[in-house]
Amino acid sequence: MSLTIASGNRVGQELGARGISLRHTRTEVLQINVGKLCNLTCIHCHVNAGPKRKEIMTRETVDRIIDWLAKTEIPTVDLTGGAPEMVPDFRYFVERVRALRWPRKIIDRCNLTILLELGYEGLAEFLAANEVEIIASMPCYSPENVNAQRGEGVFEASIKALQLLNRLGYGTAPNLALHLVYNPVGPHLPPPQAELESDYKRELFSHFGIVFNQLYTITNLPIARFAAYLRHHNQLEEYMELLIGAFNAATVNGLMCRNTVSVGWRGEVYDCDFNQQLGMQWKNGRKLFLWDIDPDQIENREILTGDHCFGCTAGGGSSCGGALI
Ligand code: SF4
Ligand code: SF4
Repeated sequence: MSLTIASGNRVGQELGARGISLRHTRTEVLQINVGKLCNLTCIHCHVNAGPKRKEIMTRETVDRIIDWLAKTEIPTVDLTGGAPEMVPDFRYFVERVRALRWPRKIIDRCNLTILLELGYEGLAEFLAANEVEIIASMPCYSPENVNAQRGEGVFEASIKALQLLNRLGYGTAPNLALHLVYNPVGPHLPPPQAELESDYKRELFSHFGIVFNQLYTITNLPIARFAAYLRHHNQLEEYMELLIGAFNAATVNGLMCRNTVSVGWRGEVYDCDFNQQLGMQWKNGRKLFLWDIDPDQIENREILTGDHCFGCTAGGGSSCGGALI
């Protein structure tokens, strides 16, 4: 079978056959990808992020986003990247969101190792002082798998960073949530989230004294670096077959694209971070940026889909908040 990743629309056909049209509901999350700069180069990365990437958000764009956000009641601001903390105006961004009259939850999608990098001293303390929720990548509780996927030494650094966060109250204080993210190392679906969470909690506590709130299992989407990795190992078609075969219509209601607006480092708008990496920008005659959008006119907007969406609808489903069912 020949497959065209992202340009096909068999998810659309699957949904159409069931009379489902994928549309936005009320916006609950503004997810902002502040850039592709990262201190790591993980195999599964769907952003192709790394230390040499130059695409990062400017202060002018931060200000335009905050001005737009201030006019809305969107409750959650979810900062992602790359390593979002490496953008020079990361702290400025967080402080400006905190200063908004209507209080918002702020999420930082953190790779943990950045908290220990030279030049980022005080970052963990800054996040705690601003009550930023941390969602941290931790693809396994054993060093072999983590180092294989994320690079040599990443497991050890992640453990130290988690211990630092625990010392600051993350994982125990009610205002300092710490969630971990698991994603499979190879071309597999994640195991059931609740069972894996118990394993993580037991292992991380018994070996390292680490506590955290929830584990989110996330399916790797076959785009960018992960697609290249699968293609290189002749596993791309097999992986797509797996995702398509595991299509589960019960996941559709919870798909994150329904209540999320995704913003890129230049302020451009998408349905989700995956569509963002595939350049599927919102258009209305011309390409749209956040400041072109009327927040009251988003509901019921049709969501752009492609074959990569099968990564979100497979098995128990997958989103930035973990399994869907
Ligand atoms: S997966 Fe995350 S930590 Fe790894 S390279 Fe991509 S952005 Fe960086
Ligand atoms: S990739 Fe997932 S979140 Fe994005 S549009 Fe497709 S189903 Fe929705």
